[in-house]
Amino acid sequence: MQIVCLDLEGVLVPEIWIAFSKRTGIVEFSRTTRDEPDYDKLMRYRLALLRQHGLKLADIQAVIAAMAPLDGARDFLDGLRQRFQVVILSDTFYEFADPLMHQLGRPTLFCHRLIVDGEGFVADYKLRQPDQKRQAVNALKSLNFKVIAAGDSYNDTGMLQAADAGFFIHPPENIVAQFPQFAVHRDYASLRASIDAAAQRLAG
Ligand SMILES: [Mg+2]
Repeated sequence: MQIVCLDLEGVLVPEIWIAFSKRTGIVEFSRTTRDEPDYDKLMRYRLALLRQHGLKLADIQAVIAAMAPLDGARDFLDGLRQRFQVVILSDTFYEFADPLMHQLGRPTLFCHRLIVDGEGFVADYKLRQPDQKRQAVNALKSLNFKVIAAGDSYNDTGMLQAADAGFFIHPPENIVAQFPQFAVHRDYASLRASIDAAAQRLAG
């Protein structure tokens, strides 16, 4: 039995915080896991910035509601789901992801939760567990699945390492250089071809 795990932001949908940065004009929000590999450090930085600018969860949700998946993402995902069960492993939050998951046909999503205070500010966040992408892949393997995974960033490398086959899809060049073991793809068609080839190999 084979299962495919995909990252969400940068793979199927745009980077939510970059869209938010553009909409608000606050450039500091464009810092992502591509720039800061320490996720907790990055989130603390974002929460402090939100507070500093008086921005609440509803302001972020308004930006996300106007976003759409990347071109071709829905077709790629639908095609993949014809052959494989697919789990989206993301470091986003359920409170953010919903409008985008609706547009993607509601695939299974494992991500984190936000903690919002009485005034509507994001006070904190709750990780499902530390290193959840890698842990999820290991859990699926313990259920006798062969796991094929694809992601674009630092926070995917644990998942890609743990998987039986791991691929990059449109990653930044600095990450490609650090992780040469993962084949790089620039479009969905070539990623799909690699996934299918890996599935054949893993079945044999
Ligand atoms: Mg990503």
